[in-house]
Amino acid sequence: LGAPSARRFGDPDVAARLPDPGAGDDKYSRGVVGVHAGSATYPGAAVLCTGAALRTRPGLVRYAGTAAEGVRAAWPEAIVTDGRPADAGRVQAWVVGPGAGTDDEARSVLAEVLATELPVLVDADALTLLAASPELAHDRSAPTVLTPHDREFTRFGWELGGDRVGAARSAARDLGVTVLLKGDATVVAGPDGTTFVNGTGTPWLATAGTGDVLSGVVGALLATGLDATEAAAAGAHLHGRAGQLAAAGGPLIASDLLRHLPTAVHLTTGRG
Ligand code: AMP
Ligand code: MG
Repeated sequence: LGAPSARRFGDPDVAARLPDPGAGDDKYSRGVVGVHAGSATYPGAAVLCTGAALRTRPGLVRYAGTAAEGVRAAWPEAIVTDGRPADAGRVQAWVVGPGAGTDDEARSVLAEVLATELPVLVDADALTLLAASPELAHDRSAPTVLTPHDREFTRFGWELGGDRVGAARSAARDLGVTVLLKGDATVVAGPDGTTFVNGTGTPWLATAGTGDVLSGVVGALLATGLDATEAAAAGAHLHGRAGQLAAAGGPLIASDLLRHLPTAVHLTTGRG
């Protein structure tokens, strides 16, 4: 009755969508990701999110925020701006929120980014801000992806019963966005009802910073030009696979995921 069941998004789905660079490509054509994350108090979120974006094969990652010093030290490949997204230069998708705080400045940055015609991934502190002002996501012309864990999800007033697929699906319809509902059974639902369940991962991912890595991965896939709901599903798949690889070496920390992302891509696609 009613909605079609959710489909597993697997290796062949990711392999079919993840582009390899061609002879005609340059760093701009491969996708430029913008990251607004971290703060003076929480530079780690910015470092993890930026590193994850770099490891998900876009052409370029631009960071704009108040953890610029830490990001610059960690990632010489990133172009770092000590300021607001509007000062960062052109990007093809934005990631906003991990460790970024919920003060007036953070709210104004979120509003600014959501007012662009670019795909935007909203996570962590930016989800708290959006839950208080959901109208910021109304009337967007470009895709929006939300990546809540359970507590961030219920802050929007959405109910989380036993049916996570149904919950993600009605949330996505309600706000007209893609919802990636994190947890041991991650679900991705698009505004059109398309729904995927993730088949990778490990409970060892329940540790600080792994969500910041997921945001960077999905943000890079958005900038690479994937459909938003497929980018979210592909990102969850690669993130979970990286978690499984990292956990094979013992209890993992979020930084370990960054080192395992290239192998996760390789094992998933047979390429790269
Ligand atoms: P966050 O809550 O933002 O730090 O994100 C946590 C990440 O770890 C998400 O990708 C979750 O899907 C994943 N995760 C958390 N708990 C579990 C669990 N018990 N089993 C599998 N994955 C989990
Ligand atoms: Mg988080």
